[in-house]
Amino acid sequence: MSYKLPSHFLRQVLKTLGLITICSWIGFATVAQTAEPSSVSAKIERIEQRIQTLSKYGANPEGGVSRVAFSKADIEGRDYIKGLMRQAGLTVRVDSAGNVIGRREGSESGLPVIMFGSHIDSVPGGGNYDGDVGVIGSIEVAQLLHENDIKTRHPLEVISFTYEEGGLIGSRAMTTGLGPGTLDIISHSGMTIAEGIRIVGGNPNRLELARRSPEEFAAFIELHIEQGAFLYEESIDIGVVEGIVGIRWWDVVIEGVANHAGTTPMNKRRDAMLSAAELTLAVNRVATSLEGRQVSTVGRIRAEPGAPNVIPGRVVMSLEIRDLDANKMQQVFNAIKIEAESIAEARQTPISFEELDAASPPAPTDVRMRKIIAESAEKLGLSFKFMPSGAGHDAADMTYVAPAGMIFVPSVGGISHSPKEYTRSEDMANGANVLLKTVLAIDSGAL
Ligand SMILES: [Zn+2]
Repeated sequence: MSYKLPSHFLRQVLKTLGLITICSWIGFATVAQTAEPSSVSAKIERIEQRIQTLSKYGANPEGGVSRVAFSKADIEGRDYIKGLMRQAGLTVRVDSAGNVIGRREGSESGLPVIMFGSHIDSVPGGGNYDGDVGVIGSIEVAQLLHENDIKTRHPLEVISFTYEEGGLIGSRAMTTGLGPGTLDIISHSGMTIAEGIRIVGGNPNRLELARRSPEEFAAFIELHIEQGAFLYEESIDIGVVEGIVGIRWWDVVIEGVANHAGTTPMNKRRDAMLSAAELTLAVNRVATSLEGRQVSTVGRIRAEPGAPNVIPGRVVMSLEIRDLDANKMQQVFNAIKIEAESIAEARQTPISFEELDAASPPAPTDVRMRKIIAESAEKLGLSFKFMPSGAGHDAADMTYVAPAGMIFVPSVGGISHSPKEYTRSEDMANGANVLLKTVLAIDSGAL
C-alpha cells in the first residue's frame, strides 16, 4: 500500500521551516497540484453515513424514502446536500431550473467545466440509493480534492438535478429545454412543475438562464446504481455504461366484432382479444429471437366493451420497445408488424399501430469517456463490464451538450424503485473512486 502525506500537511511543515518560497520556486507546488493522488481514496464510512442521513428526509415506514421532488422532504434533502457541498469547499448556487450546483474553480482560466452528479428526488415509495449514490459520491470526490489540496485545471461542478423522476426536468431545462406545457404538469408533490421549481429557489419564467451550451462543458459524468442485476449476479464491481436506451411507445388497436358471448358459435367469431393474446406472445418472441439486449413489452391492455358476456369487439394495448440502437428498435417493430399482419388476416381483425409522442431516442455515451472510465476501474484493480442502461438518466440529456459517461455500481438483487433497494458501501466507494480517477484523467487531458 502506498502512502503519501497530504500536500497541505507538507506545506504546513515547510512553511514552519520557512522553505515554502524555495520549494515553490523549484516547482514543488506544481508537483503537489498535479501529482496522481494514488493514496487518495473515498472514505467508505463517510459515504455510508451520509447516505443514511439523507435517507431520513422523506423516510417511509418500509425503510426507503418518498422524497418526491418539491416536497418538504426534497427541500430538506436539498438543504442537507448544499451543506455537504459547502463542507467540500464548493460554492453553491441554485439555477433557474432549481438544479443545485456546487462549483470549484480551476487553476487555468477559460477552460470548460467538468460536471458530475445525479439527483436526490425519489419516486413515491422509493429507495435510498437511486440518484443519492451519485450525488453523495460526487460530493465525496469534491471533498477529497479539497481535503488533499488537489487543484484541477478545469473548473468542477457537482450537480443535483431537479425532478429526475418526473422526466429529467432539471437536465432537460439545462440542455434541450422543456417541452411546451411541461411547466403546467402536476408533479408527484401535487404542485405544478412551475410551482415546484419556484419553491426550490428556481425561476420558471427565466428557464433560459439554466440553459448551457456545449462550449461550457469539458465532460459530464454520472455515477448511479445499476437498478438491474447484471453486475450483482456476475460479481462485477463497475458497469461502464454504453448509453441510455431509447424508448418508443405505441397504442395498438385491434378491431374485431362485439357480439353475444352466449349465442355466437365459436367458429363465427371475430374476437379482438384472441388476436391481442397472439400478438402479445409475438411481441415477446420477436425480441427474444433477435441477437442483442433489446426488450419489447405489452404492459397495458383494455378490451371493449369489457363485459364478461360480450366478445371483445376492440382491444387497445400498449407496445414498448427499448434498445441502444435506433435501427434495432425499428427492426424489432418491423418484425412485430409482420406478425401482426398475419394475425389480423387469420382472425379477420384489422390491427393498427399508432406511435405516441413519448419517444426518447437512444443516448449513447461518448466512446472516449467509456474508455477513460474503464481504464480508471482497471487501474484501481476493479472488475468492469460495458453495458447499456435500461432506465432513463439525466446523463441522456447531457449527451446533447457534453462528452458524457456513466458509472454503474451493483444493486443487490437488482431491486430498484423500492424500499428494498440496496447498494453495499464498498460498492459506493468503488464508484466514487472510479469517478475521482475519471475526473482527474479528463482534467489532465485524457479526452
Ligand atoms: Zn436515478
